[in-house]
Amino acid sequence: MINLMICGELYDYLQYSIETTDIFFKYVVPLSIPNSIHNLIHSSLDLSFYIPLEREREMDLSSSDDMIAWFQEVARNAGKVQRETLKKIIEMNHEVEYLQKWLKDVDVENMDAEALQSVYRSMVPLASHADLEPYIHRIADGETSPLLTKQPITTLSLSSGTTEGRQKYVPYTSHSSKTTLQTFKLAAAYRSRVYPTKEGGKILEFIYGSKQFKTKGGLSAGTATTHYFSSQEFKLKQQQTNSFTCSPNEVIFSGDYKQSTYCHFLLGLFHSPQVEFITSTFAYCIVQALGLFEDYWRELCNDLSNGSLSPTITLPGIRTSVLDVIKPDKNLAKWVASQCEVLEKSNWYGLIPKLWPNAKYVYSIMTGSMKPYLEKLKHYAGDHLPLVSAEYGSTESWIGVNMDPSSAPESVTFTVVPTFSYFEFIPLHRQDSMIVGAAGGCDDYLEDDPVPLSKVKIGQQYEIVLTTFTGLYRYRLGDVVEVTGFYEGTPKLNFLCRRKLILTINIDKNTENDLQLVVKKGSQSLIKSRAELVDFTSHANTTNQPGHYVVYWEVKGEVNEHILARCCKEMDAAFLDHGYVVSRKTNSIGPLELCIVERGTFRKIMEHFIGNGATMSQFKTPRCTTNKVLLKILNLYTIKSFRSTAYK
Ligand code: AMP
Repeated sequence: MINLMICGELYDYLQYSIETTDIFFKYVVPLSIPNSIHNLIHSSLDLSFYIPLEREREMDLSSSDDMIAWFQEVARNAGKVQRETLKKIIEMNHEVEYLQKWLKDVDVENMDAEALQSVYRSMVPLASHADLEPYIHRIADGETSPLLTKQPITTLSLSSGTTEGRQKYVPYTSHSSKTTLQTFKLAAAYRSRVYPTKEGGKILEFIYGSKQFKTKGGLSAGTATTHYFSSQEFKLKQQQTNSFTCSPNEVIFSGDYKQSTYCHFLLGLFHSPQVEFITSTFAYCIVQALGLFEDYWRELCNDLSNGSLSPTITLPGIRTSVLDVIKPDKNLAKWVASQCEVLEKSNWYGLIPKLWPNAKYVYSIMTGSMKPYLEKLKHYAGDHLPLVSAEYGSTESWIGVNMDPSSAPESVTFTVVPTFSYFEFIPLHRQDSMIVGAAGGCDDYLEDDPVPLSKVKIGQQYEIVLTTFTGLYRYRLGDVVEVTGFYEGTPKLNFLCRRKLILTINIDKNTENDLQLVVKKGSQSLIKSRAELVDFTSHANTTNQPGHYVVYWEVKGEVNEHILARCCKEMDAAFLDHGYVVSRKTNSIGPLELCIVERGTFRKIMEHFIGNGATMSQFKTPRCTTNKVLLKILNLYTIKSFRSTAYK
């Protein structure tokens, strides 16, 4: 590897190019870099499987077609790209304390990529977050010796943790923002083929940065989305995809969810004719925001008409930046008001295309724990506006892109990008008797040995394991995916669920997915009576014997008790897991309890999480909780409860 005795920004750019060894080189290396350096770096890397340098030079690599050509090339050589990716990560970091424990006597530099892969996989053990946590805490406390990566880590991310009830620190580097940019550009390239948007158009984005803070050792910490929104890459993405977010940074970073949302709407309506698509990180955010819109619209129309800003928006930064943009527009205000009057009568069906008539699609994560919001999103999108499911990634690493934006969110797959990290896959087999998983938690899968990306099989379920450029080695992500096919040599994944069982009392075992299905079935009667389920969560209550499942629902609309009692019974009967059915029949699990909470309870829960450092952009309602504060909120706001009469 060439000696990079270059400092500052340039070093960062070059380091990144070497980390990824790909033709993104041209995107991230500024034009001012002399050709000699370009050639030097290029010649030091094994790029035989990439597009030849001469062709690369001729191409405008930021065009959509070139992005797609690049991806095809790395996907075709996925096995080799993966080995090279691992080699780069290990060559850079094998001297760090964590890897020295396992690779001390290994001559990493003189090994070819194939040999290194097999040594690495046989000598470095699988790890959970708990295994790496002591190192991450030492980094957070300011220790500067190389613990996980050779390059000092200056930033930590908080993964939302709401799926596991606890936030976790994960290292974050410039590589993280850059792969985010790559992901968004690649995804935008595929979307633009199917749903072309106007150059220079606007995006109505429901995005929210949370507070960044300093750890004990002075590192900045915050959520990955927050780091990204405040990064150079966020600006670059807008320039390179030629689509610009409606809201200035002051709105994204106000720290006040309601004030930000109000201003996202005001600016989104002000720019309505130019809005090309509506987006948020997770679908939940759009649904939640549109729920607020139903209350805000009159005030918004008043502000549009007068070029003013409601007195409820009190933060000075946000006020100045929004008032700088908007101008009085009586006609627009009248048009919005007339649309809303009609929409209000039809329960806001088709709200999005009515108010943003030039929007080509809605783009957000709609899979996994976002599935329960899909129905409501479809309602707001009406009959014709496409819903495009966004990419698959985590705070730890990006994983795959949606290459087929026209596929329905229910059937979307994610194609793994083999340059992002080194991926392994633990084959999972569902089995009947419960076992205790490696992390000590209950699990219902039997595992085989992990396989590399090139060895996965169609139809098989796997847990994803990551080795990243940011210091995670054979790290179990905890997500369960199924391989549905291949694009060239790289797998397409269907996201199934988080691995951990969420509801279990004795021999029963139900995942988030199982609970989603049960709630969907149980809420059919609600829909028939024109009410709707706003949100839900659950708890395995073992305080009294026998233990029982409690499902909390927030419902919009009037429903009589008779119907709610039926919903409760239907949910109890809809858990198909054999352990649950047997336990219910023998009364070793008691009747399911349905608790109806007051309107607004789930918003309070979200505010609780946001108050504790989560960001709206990454928030996911926990589908099962043992968190005492949360249970206290839920129980405090329970207005009715029912016990199932199934199994009588
Ligand atoms: P976070 O730690 O907050 O970054 O959340 C990452 C987790 O969100 C992943 O490990 C997945 O469980 C989930 N996730 C991310 N993207 C998707 C997606 N496209 N579909 C389903 N779940 C996703």
